[in-house]
Amino acid sequence: MKSATNQQSENPMAKLPSVDYLIQQSAQRFQSTYGLSELTKVVRLVLQEVRQTLLSEASTRTYKDEDYLQCIEQKLTQRAEKKVKAVLNLTGTVLHTNLGRAVLPKEAVDALTLAASEACILEYDLGEGKRGDRDQLIEELLCELTGAQAATVVNNNAAAVFLLLHALSEKKETIISRGELIEIGGSFRIPDIMKRAGVKLVEVGTTNRTHAKDFMEAITPKTAMIMKVHTSNYAVQGFTAHVEDDVLAQIANDHQIAYVVDLGSGNLVDMSLFGLPKEPTPMEALKSGAHLVTFSGDKLLGGPQCGMIVGSKELIAKIKKNPLKRMLRVSKLTLAALEAVLHLYRNPARLPEKLTVLGQLTRTRENISLQTARIVSHLNPYFEGTNLTISSQVVMSQIGSGSLPIDLLPSSAVVISGKSKSAEKMVLRFEKLLRKAAIPVIGRIKEQQLILDLRCLRENQEEILSMSIQKVFQEIHFKP
Ligand SMILES: *Cc1c(COP(=O)(O)O)cnc(C)c1O
Repeated sequence: MKSATNQQSENPMAKLPSVDYLIQQSAQRFQSTYGLSELTKVVRLVLQEVRQTLLSEASTRTYKDEDYLQCIEQKLTQRAEKKVKAVLNLTGTVLHTNLGRAVLPKEAVDALTLAASEACILEYDLGEGKRGDRDQLIEELLCELTGAQAATVVNNNAAAVFLLLHALSEKKETIISRGELIEIGGSFRIPDIMKRAGVKLVEVGTTNRTHAKDFMEAITPKTAMIMKVHTSNYAVQGFTAHVEDDVLAQIANDHQIAYVVDLGSGNLVDMSLFGLPKEPTPMEALKSGAHLVTFSGDKLLGGPQCGMIVGSKELIAKIKKNPLKRMLRVSKLTLAALEAVLHLYRNPARLPEKLTVLGQLTRTRENISLQTARIVSHLNPYFEGTNLTISSQVVMSQIGSGSLPIDLLPSSAVVISGKSKSAEKMVLRFEKLLRKAAIPVIGRIKEQQLILDLRCLRENQEEILSMSIQKVFQEIHFKP
C-alpha cells in the first residue's frame, strides 16, 4: 500500500494515496456515523479536489494522512448540513416571504410535531368509524371566526384564487376593476391566473377610478362573477374611486352571479385593536355581502402556508367537487398547525403574547431600543479606534408579504458603518460574512450602512448576534 506521505517521487500526482487507503485510514472515525458509501463518495471528492489543486498550482505541496483526514471530515460535515436552517431575520420585514413568512407559535409547532410523529385523525370520522373529510378539522373554527357558512383550505392563497376561478367561472366571464389587476411578488398575476383557470377576464373602469355602472354595463349572460382583489402591496392615492363591497354584492345579487373577494392578508381580528394598520377582515367582507372570501394562512394570520376559502355553503360545495381540490389539498402537518393557530383566535386578548407574528409586530420601539443599546454598549469597545463604527439608530420596520409598504412600524437597529470611503467596502464584507455565520444573520444595506433591525430578535438570541458580530469584526480586522 502506497503511503500518503511518500516524498520520494518527483511527480506530486504519484504521491496521491488510493481511495482504498484513505477509506481504511478514516473508517474508524467516520464510517459508523456517515456510512461506507457516503465515506467512499467523500474520499473520491477530496482526492479529486487535491488532484485539481496540484494541477492548477503546479504545486509540489505534499499532503500528510492527517491533512486528508481533515479534508474528509470537513467535507462530511459540510454535506451533512441541512439547507433549511434557522437564520436571524434582522431585515426589518417581519413577514419575509424569502425567509418563510410567519414564524409559528409554540402551540402550532407542538400540534404539527404530534401530527408528524403519530397516526392522527385526518380524514376519519371517530363517531362513525369511517372515512371523513379533512376540511372538517378546521371548518367549524373557520366558520365561527369569520361568520361563514362553510370553509375549505388549500395549499396557499394563490391556489385558493385559482381553484375558485376554475370551479365557478371556467369558460365564463369574471369582471374585475382595472385598478385591481395586480401582480404579487413571485409571478402571481391576476390576469395570468385567470387565463390558466380558463376564465375570460373582463376589465372595467380605469386604474384610479371604477364606478358601479362600469360593473353593471359589463354583465352579460356569460358572466359568472364579480371579483374584488385587495390591492395589498400598493396604494392608489389622490383622485380615486372604487365601488364599496355592499354595492358590488347588491349588483351581483340582482344579476344572480357570485361576488368574491381576494383579501390576500386577511386577518381574523381587527388589527387596529393592537395598534396596527387596519386590514379588512373576512368577517367584514362577508357581512358586506361577499359570497366567498380567500386569504393566506402565513401572512398576518400568523399560521402555516395555506389558503382559505370561506363563505356560501353552496359555492364551497361546488369548489370542493372540483378535481383540482384534490391536487391542491393541504397536508396533515398544515392542518394541525392551522387548527392550533385558529384556537388562539378564540381569545384575542392574549393574541399578542401567544401568536408569534403579532408579538413581533406589536413590539414597541422602546422595547427594541433596550436590546440595541445592550448590544452596542457590549460591542463598542471592539470597534473603538478602528475605521468601523457600531451604533444604534431609529428605523422603521415593515409588516411585509403584501401588507401596505407605506404602513411602517417604529423600530430600532444596530448599525455598522464605515468612517471612510475605503471602510464602506468593509461594511459590504461585514454583511456578507454575517450571512455566512453558523446561524446566518440577515440584515440590509442602506446608504453604505449595514442595518440590523432587531424587531424579530428574541432575547435568547442576543448572545448569538453579539458573538457573530464579534467574530466577523475580528475576521475583517485581522484579514482586511
Ligand atoms: C399574497 C396575496 C396572494 C397570494 O397568496 P399566497 O398565500 O402567497 O399564495 C393573493 N392575493 C393577494 C391580494 C395577496 O396579497
